[in-house]
Amino acid sequence: MTSQITGRPERLRQERRVVTEIPGPKSRELQERRVGAVPPGVGSVLPVYVTDAGGGVVVDVDGNSLIDFGSGIAVTGVGNASPRVVERVKEQVERFTHTCFMVAPYESYVAVCEALNRITPGDHEKRSFLVNSGAEAVENAVKIARYATGRQAVVAFDHGFHGRTLLTMTLTAKSMPYKHGFGPYAPEVYRMPPAYAYRWPTGPGNCGPEAAAQAIDQITKQIGPLNVAAVVIEPIQGEGGFIDHAPGFLPAIAEFCQANGIMLIADEVQTGFARTGDMFACDHEGVVPDIIAMAKGIAGGLPLGAVTGRADLMDKVHGGGLGGTYGGNPLACEAALAVLEEIEAGGLVERARWIGETMVPRLRALAEKHDVIGDVRGRGAMIAIELVRGASKEPNPELTAEIVRRCHAAGLLVLTAGTYGNVVRFLPPLVIPEHLLVEGLGILESAFED
Ligand SMILES: *Cc1c(COP(=O)(O)O)cnc(C)c1O
Repeated sequence: MTSQITGRPERLRQERRVVTEIPGPKSRELQERRVGAVPPGVGSVLPVYVTDAGGGVVVDVDGNSLIDFGSGIAVTGVGNASPRVVERVKEQVERFTHTCFMVAPYESYVAVCEALNRITPGDHEKRSFLVNSGAEAVENAVKIARYATGRQAVVAFDHGFHGRTLLTMTLTAKSMPYKHGFGPYAPEVYRMPPAYAYRWPTGPGNCGPEAAAQAIDQITKQIGPLNVAAVVIEPIQGEGGFIDHAPGFLPAIAEFCQANGIMLIADEVQTGFARTGDMFACDHEGVVPDIIAMAKGIAGGLPLGAVTGRADLMDKVHGGGLGGTYGGNPLACEAALAVLEEIEAGGLVERARWIGETMVPRLRALAEKHDVIGDVRGRGAMIAIELVRGASKEPNPELTAEIVRRCHAAGLLVLTAGTYGNVVRFLPPLVIPEHLLVEGLGILESAFED
């Protein structure tokens, strides 16, 4: 079979194939070994042990081929072991694997930064540097904002997720499992309500402007704008349940930041790189952040994070103030360059929109039939359903777990999200073949029928 996107032959058969229970006997054996070696604090959504993955499937040790609606949490947008990524990384791994950019630099790092400066929102002069993860990107963005403003307070939002390090865990809204027992947290972090249209008291139509006014009022009264270094926000909240702030909210927050010398940091770690049907989710409403944190979809599965920001801010920090041993590892840089080529050559921004246009009408029809689906939301290939107990909108995490369990058993890999664990989220690889996308939706529909 030939890929609809790359025009190259698919290495793996693009089919759903369930030949054992899921997880199967070999996976269960490996799971037993794991329990003796890995602490339970590191969880797995579905403990099938993977041997292969590509296009729209993940293959396990028992020979099952699962339809992938997760992309390793929005990482393998270009597909797993995407041919361009493999070629570039192979070529690089045979030349050198590491020098440390802070010791002796190499061109690919610079090329990635040039590309990021070009494709991120806004046509002002920018600088970028590379790190290893999303958390590290967010943490560095905050460091720069504090340095550049000389201020300390950082505003984050309810339902937000920004990582698992001390500062990013503090910025994260949800106690269990991310923060519980891990305190004390970093100081000077304040939390505001986001524009959660589905649960906005006066209705979704008023949500954007009212939520912005409320957040701005609280920042003004509780902290004082002149004390605020940065507002850190996910343009669509990921782990919090794909909460896409109501229209008008982000532009109003951006305007408030600009008027008060506050750095707007967009955490585009989950939303970036074509996922939402724009290269970055901020592009949707034309919001131009001062600093952007990126990771996940940037390098097709190789560990890479990035910070891009206004040149005048980024250039302020003293030499040696930013960096890290592995940041911008040459293999990850080659992978990122391949990803950027693939997004363009494969038309993946448009493809993400098409995925949304395919999924959303089917999900809305499903919600018409089942009043336990309270909301269908998201953009592009970042779509979710929120499950409730009917008109009360009371969260329904039990049903969510049951639906996900049935999907897994039928060979569809889906993830949950949401502060109340009542959101099923869909993050298919942008290169998923149409027939697998449609088949996956069918499995989800059957799970609700049952
Ligand atoms: C995943 C995620 C992070 C953390 O990224 P890591 O690479 O796991 O450190 C930060 N912000 C958002 C929005 C994320 O989705």
